Amino acid sequence: MIHLEKLKQAIAEYDPEFDRELIEKAFLYAKEKHDGQFRSSGEPYYTHPVEVAGILAEMKMGATTIATAILHDTVEDTTATIEDIEKKFNKTIADLVNGVSKLTRIESQTLEGKQAENFRKLLLAMSEDIRVLLVKLADRLHNMRTISGIKRDDKRRRIALETLEIYAPLAERIGIHRIKEELEDLCFEQINPEARESITNRLAYLREEGHGVVDGIIDELQNLMAKAGINAEITGREKPRYSIWKKMQRKKVTFEQLSDIMAFRIIVDTTEECYLVLGTIHGKYHSVPGRFKDYISTPKPNGYRSIHTTIMGPRRQRIEVQIRTQQMHAEAELGVAAHWAYKGDASPKQRDVTKYRWLRELLDILEQEQKPEDFWENTKLELFQDQVFVFTPRGDLIELPNGATPIDFAYAIHSDIGDRCVGAKINGRIAPLNSRLVNGDQVDVITAKTQKPSPTWERFVVTGKARSHIRKYVRNQQRDEFITLGKAMIQKVFRQEGYEFTEKALAAAQEHYRIDDVDDIYANIGAGVFVTRDVFKIIFPGHQTEMAKRPSEQMDKITKLIRPDDSGPMPIKGLIPGMAMHFARCCHPLPGDRIVGIVTTGKGVTIHTIDCDTLENFADTPERWLDVSWGDKGEKPEVQVGRLNMTIANEPNALGTVTTVIGRNGGNITNLKIINRSIDFWDMIMDIGVKDTKHLNNIIAALRATPCIVSVERSKGG
Ligand code: MN
Repeated sequence: MIHLEKLKQAIAEYDPEFDRELIEKAFLYAKEKHDGQFRSSGEPYYTHPVEVAGILAEMKMGATTIATAILHDTVEDTTATIEDIEKKFNKTIADLVNGVSKLTRIESQTLEGKQAENFRKLLLAMSEDIRVLLVKLADRLHNMRTISGIKRDDKRRRIALETLEIYAPLAERIGIHRIKEELEDLCFEQINPEARESITNRLAYLREEGHGVVDGIIDELQNLMAKAGINAEITGREKPRYSIWKKMQRKKVTFEQLSDIMAFRIIVDTTEECYLVLGTIHGKYHSVPGRFKDYISTPKPNGYRSIHTTIMGPRRQRIEVQIRTQQMHAEAELGVAAHWAYKGDASPKQRDVTKYRWLRELLDILEQEQKPEDFWENTKLELFQDQVFVFTPRGDLIELPNGATPIDFAYAIHSDIGDRCVGAKINGRIAPLNSRLVNGDQVDVITAKTQKPSPTWERFVVTGKARSHIRKYVRNQQRDEFITLGKAMIQKVFRQEGYEFTEKALAAAQEHYRIDDVDDIYANIGAGVFVTRDVFKIIFPGHQTEMAKRPSEQMDKITKLIRPDDSGPMPIKGLIPGMAMHFARCCHPLPGDRIVGIVTTGKGVTIHTIDCDTLENFADTPERWLDVSWGDKGEKPEVQVGRLNMTIANEPNALGTVTTVIGRNGGNITNLKIINRSIDFWDMIMDIGVKDTKHLNNIIAALRATPCIVSVERSKGG
């Protein structure tokens, strides 16, 4: 129980009123669940989560986070379930433990080196709550602290490399400097113990040589500040061994050449004083050119603020000096965790830490929240929420926009895989192609050689690559359709005019239009770009065509010939010959209405009224719009159907009156549907056979003049 007592003591130091019962309950539960399990070091397993909780207590976290830490391995490693945790504790803790468990599961994926950045993003994206990430980092820190318990060298090394690539940068990303430094040093020990050892020895030697050189410099700086009337807290230390090592590598210098291995920190109350200190120091000592950085006016992406300068110090040694306020210091050490814990001079509002949206959002929340617990509850880490990261079967991480589907994934891997995609397995299970992928999914695309992209895919893909490939395919398919059509049309004209068709005859047209590929001639004819008659005239300029003699009659004949669906009563001008045409059921166009055609591949042309609501669906595909108009009226006007939306009063004989008015005006009710019936009104749809728009408008006018009719409107689709 010694662990529990120590932990409670640590929490009580910063939060005397914390929920003791919760911590005790979590402890007993974890101890019971992990009973019989041991760490590689031989210690009982439950000591690990308690130590992790201790790390978070050092960071002054609330009881909920501490309890989460104590329970963090129960779901992944014991018989406990998330439901158990929720029942025994509460929903928040269950959610947090679930979040940590998810990260733990993801961790076991193998990764290529260059995938590290994506993996870090994935971890951030999956940690919807920052507490999840903090527990995970503390977990990793404790595992690194106790890594010597692992016997196998290669395993220790792998874990250290992964920590160095993923977790240390993550700690830095969310601004927790202390954890980052410790993780790096622990990894350094695993990865290059010799280098670390020699730096340690060298530092010890210098310390011996200098006889308290650090303390001496602190004294001198302290005097300088006192003279300038600045109240400052000054500390000094050797730089971390890993950072010295990195600098030696980066600058390709030996330890002897590396002069600034000591760093001093001057902490003051206000930002103004920071600049005052800087001026005082630069006034007294020579500054080293190129080593001055002002992260106060331009903070680092993770929000880090401080002034850095390197000077030839009091002992003629190069020393680095960092100048910052108390609050900046707390933030640098604890990152986002420090924001609520420390309320210093500068309000977050005044600062320019706005470069990164997520940090700005975090600061906004901090501004509004007073109680620390509130802050954590409401802090959802919405990082990379516009992206989703999924694994290939080989363990590569693919980054896709949010909402991406297996089709997007397939095209992201390779166009051929996208084109031939017939199905997908998500996490080993067959899933629909329009499933939305979520973070950490493993996706396996199933392909078939004979498969072709489907136009319907375009409705749910979200990546440009997928969309453009599908469109390209559909366009090609349409082109094939037009080629077949155009060929049939020109052949027909040849036959009508008594010529035998040969492709050779088209040479003149090819020359005229400067088109090499004869298929392009056909496609243009099929698409209605070239008029068949014109093409024929180019080939046989001297020919007196039947058309020339009796144009209107001939046009009718042609229209009839080339319209398979010529049962329609009114010819429509501007159609693509050979394509089926039908009237839209949504708006029931009538002769006299302004109309437009919408081309649907494989289905022909649908005629809508120009104000039909359905047309909105085609707003971004202008290529499908066809300018059409009503053709000449035949001798006998035929009946078309117009649709009305009507509201009539619910009173005796109202319906009778309506039908009488319509009948008297020559309309023929072909269909009637009551949509809604209330005590006062009926809403209904009525289809009426009429001659044309004018006829329908007359009926509408007559209906509007009828007392029992509340409203009557031509249906506009939708
Ligand atoms: Mn753990």
